[in-house]
Amino acid sequence: MLKIKNLKKSFNGIKVLKNINLEVEKGERIVIIGPSGSGKSTLLRCINRMTNPTSGFIYFNDILLTNENITEYRQKIGMVFQTFNLFNNLTVLNNIILAPVKLGLMTEQDAKKKACEYLKKINLIDKINVYPQSLSGGERQRVAIIRTLMTNPEIILFDEPTSALDPEMVKEVQELMLKLAADGMTMIIVTHEVSFVKKVATKIIFLDEGKIVCSGTYQDLINSDNETVKLFLSNIK
Ligand code: ADP
Ligand code: MG
Repeated sequence: MLKIKNLKKSFNGIKVLKNINLEVEKGERIVIIGPSGSGKSTLLRCINRMTNPTSGFIYFNDILLTNENITEYRQKIGMVFQTFNLFNNLTVLNNIILAPVKLGLMTEQDAKKKACEYLKKINLIDKINVYPQSLSGGERQRVAIIRTLMTNPEIILFDEPTSALDPEMVKEVQELMLKLAADGMTMIIVTHEVSFVKKVATKIIFLDEGKIVCSGTYQDLINSDNETVKLFLSNIK
């Protein structure tokens, strides 16, 4: 579904991604871990072209993504951020229906119906007309995930979706993500929550200084003889 070939990204001459190659098949859940500053967010941002790669190729269903065609495909590549990125001046409902209505994917009426269905599923239907400020962090993130689902993405990129949450709210977001996984959603997830990684990942890749230095199962990573991988894993256990 997604193929990344020789991806490089520099900021002001500083190499942040140094030749990334990665293939993601439909239904896979790739977890990216690695030290702060290793390029995890940049990699996700290159995939949906919030950032332009310096060189290399990204194919989505065998189509080469370019600045020219990305608007056509971006709705198929959902993104969920650490800090939710909901619009504070819009109600929960209006946050959720904004993109599909604006993009002409659904009528407002259909979008509202779909939004209600999703909100019922995540037990937040009673919050439909409130503003994001009055939601807990966990509720905001679940609304943000629902918002992403509204454009029918084929893959969702999650950038540390639970790291801004209080511990008691982490689980409700992870449970929603596990439901998506069980429904077959293809996902790339940056997270360091080990017990969740073990449950969700079909493959883990370890990024260090812009390079994939190790990939495989959690056990494969534990067995790695790369010093950074070893040290990192011993700190997050
Ligand atoms: P991670 O998500 O793994 O913590 P990032 O992808 O956010 O890492 O950042 C990787 C490196 O790229 C860091 O050194 C960061 O300072 C740098 N970087 C990220 N975005 C920008 C930007 N827009 N301009 C300049 N440098 C950036
Ligand atoms: Mg990051």
